[in-house]
Amino acid sequence: MTTAFFAPPEAFRGDRVLFSAEEAHHAVRVLRASVGEVVVVVDGAGGWHRVRLDQIDRQQVAGTVLERRSDVGEPAYHLTIGLALLKNPGRFETFLEKAVELGVHTVMPLLTARTEKTRFRPERYDHLLVAAMKQCGRSRTLCLTEPQPLKSVLQAASDLSLICHEQADPAQALPAVLSRHPDARQLRVLVGPEGGFSDEEVRQAVAAGYLSVSLGPRRLRAETAALAAAAAVMLAKG
Ligand code: SAH
Repeated sequence: MTTAFFAPPEAFRGDRVLFSAEEAHHAVRVLRASVGEVVVVVDGAGGWHRVRLDQIDRQQVAGTVLERRSDVGEPAYHLTIGLALLKNPGRFETFLEKAVELGVHTVMPLLTARTEKTRFRPERYDHLLVAAMKQCGRSRTLCLTEPQPLKSVLQAASDLSLICHEQADPAQALPAVLSRHPDARQLRVLVGPEGGFSDEEVRQAVAAGYLSVSLGPRRLRAETAALAAAAAVMLAKG
């Protein structure tokens, strides 16, 4: 699989697609693409296109769509991960890149009782999310929401809602819980900050219908826990 190009839906007009300056630069200077070459262009909204490059010059790079498909590389389930904002923004960034590869649909940064104050600007991550999508063969960009208080997140419903908690009953290990809910298509998994969720937060989540789940006997860093959960869902749901 070769790395795809990105062009947002508005870059397509009928069968024509016009590359942005950045993608044009990548095609011409980095990949030395030539007229007549056929490449894959994803639009970040599930659109996947086979495109023949038919104009490459100083002004622009453009092509003709030969084939359209949708949701290539996208999982059949819909996983939302709520990960508490982390003290170290670099760790959150690492998590986001890997979350794209693991097929996560939405990431909700959570504000919890023990979340430390940090600045968070989702638009800072646009470039990273698009690059990860192109690299791994997805056709949808991961949806990254604004930070949200845990309380409001607990109100939304899904087929299976889970909160990762080190003190969860070992019988409630994530893989076992997933195998008991084979039909769940909309899943949510919450992971706490460095200091963990408070007992009160876990109680509130359970009262809201969340199952408290274990990721095993070791205490994982928050971003490791979130990635382990995403990988477990990916492997269980195929
Ligand atoms: N409360 C801990 C550390 C929290 S680890 C302390 O300060 O000692 C950060 C988050 O990762 C937790 O809130 C939990 O959601 C998740 N997590 C880490 N290890 C886990 C495990 N073994 N099982 C379930 N969740 C885990």
